This record gives sequence, structure tokens and C-alpha cells, in this order.
Amino acid sequence: MDTGQGMRRPLIRAAVAALLAFLPMLAQSAQASRESTLLLPLLRPGEGLAIAIGEEVRSYGDSRTEGPMGGLAKLVWMRMEGADWAAMGVEFRCKEPTASGHGKAHGRLSLGQALQADCEPAFLAWTADARLRWQRDYGDAAARLRLEEVFRPFLGRRLPAGETMPVFTASWLGAGDLLRSSPEAFLHWLLEPQQAEVVVFGKRFLAGRWVEVKELLGQDSWWFKTATASVLGDPAATSAWVAGGRGSVLLVFRMPRGNGRPDAEARLRAILGLKP
Ligand SMILES: [Zn+2]
Repeated sequence: MDTGQGMRRPLIRAAVAALLAFLPMLAQSAQASRESTLLLPLLRPGEGLAIAIGEEVRSYGDSRTEGPMGGLAKLVWMRMEGADWAAMGVEFRCKEPTASGHGKAHGRLSLGQALQADCEPAFLAWTADARLRWQRDYGDAAARLRLEEVFRPFLGRRLPAGETMPVFTASWLGAGDLLRSSPEAFLHWLLEPQQAEVVVFGKRFLAGRWVEVKELLGQDSWWFKTATASVLGDPAATSAWVAGGRGSVLLVFRMPRGNGRPDAEARLRAILGLKP
């Protein structure tokens, strides 16, 4: 008990001293933030936004904390299989009203429609097919290496060691916390040249029709991929993501809590001052 007390007092003193030293800085930064209110996005606590304008990346708010990436994992799958799926013209009939990920059946979906609707059953079916195709074409070990290479930035060390292909459960589409990222990390990933195709898919499938024509006319629209994700340590809660862009601008936004993806797009539009 005595030692505890003795240890605690200098600690408290040090904390008070640090706080006193910090107060003038706080006042200064409050003034600075008043001056720059118009230059900075107004984020709520826990929100994070990373924007790339050309080569320059700017980060605001809580944009470096890693968390479950949720449905953004579908963009990683687009990097992996998007070209093949687009070439094959994959389709899926979503008829499961209570399927995980959405409350109503989506009906017949193309690849672009499934990406937009964030239809988990569609991607579960397509990734299961892809798994069989890779095993047939490359064999288990090589297929697993390819998978690890693409998903490594989001897997950390959470994939158990081995040489066999994992079964692509919902956690490979972003459910739970197997796949994680932060707004800044995901933006850096999107900016890598290998991911150029993901951005092209985003523009083609998510910015609305005629985006390529509109781009040529200098009226390109925003594309947004919205996603719902879980929250580490709180199974009842959801967080939400938006990855998107317009022209050469790319951005990634995360909301720490909320009702998932529609909320996140509305919130991002409000932050960016775009029409709802
Ligand atoms: Zn569906």
C-alpha cells in the first residue's frame, strides 16, 4: 500500500506539470482551429478522413487507427478477381431476404449492382467459384500465396499458417475483424499503381451511368463505395466506411459508430459540402 501511494504521488505531480505545460498549447491550438475552421473538415470525435489530391495525402481526425474494414473488402476482391468477373459477366440471383448483410432480397444482380448494393451472398458465391478455379489452375499452395499477397495489408498475422486455401467465409468479405485497415492505410493502398483497376471499377460501377462520357465532358461525378463494419470489442455496434473519388481525387472516410453505410455516405457528403 505504502509503495503504491509513494509511486502515485510523483506520477500525479508529473501529470499536473504536463497538463500545465500543455494548457497554453491548447489555447493556441483553439485559436488556430478558429482561424482555420474553413480550411479543415469538421469531423466528429472518432471520425477519420484521408484525402489524396494528386500525390499529396492529407489526413484528418482519427484516420490512422486500424479497425475492421467491413464491406470495403469487396474492393480488395475487385483487385483480385474484378477483371475476370467482369469478363465472365457474372450474375447472381439474390433471393435470401434474411441473408446476412441485408434485410431484403436484391433480385438479379450484375457485378456492378452487387458492388453497389454491397450484396454479401453474391460475393460469397463468386469468391467460392474463384477458389475452385484457382485450386484447379494453380494448385493449393500457389493459390494461397496469391491470396496472401493481395490481402496481406489487411490480414496482419491473423491468417493461421499453412499451405491450404482457407474457405472464403463472410469474414473474407469483411464480417468480423479478420480484415482490418484505417482510412489512411486504405487510401495508400488505393493509390498504389497495382490498384488502378479498382479505381476504374469504382468509377464505372458506382459513379452512375455515363461516367466515362461525363468525364470527357469535364462533368465527372463522385463514386462512393459504402461499407458497414463491426467494431472491435463491441459486437452489438457497427461502424461505417466510404471509399471514393472524383477525377484524380481519392478519399477514404470512416465513422466510428452509426447505422452503417447509408449514414456514412450522407455524413461524408455533409462534410464535403456535396448535395445529399
Ligand atoms: Zn443481396
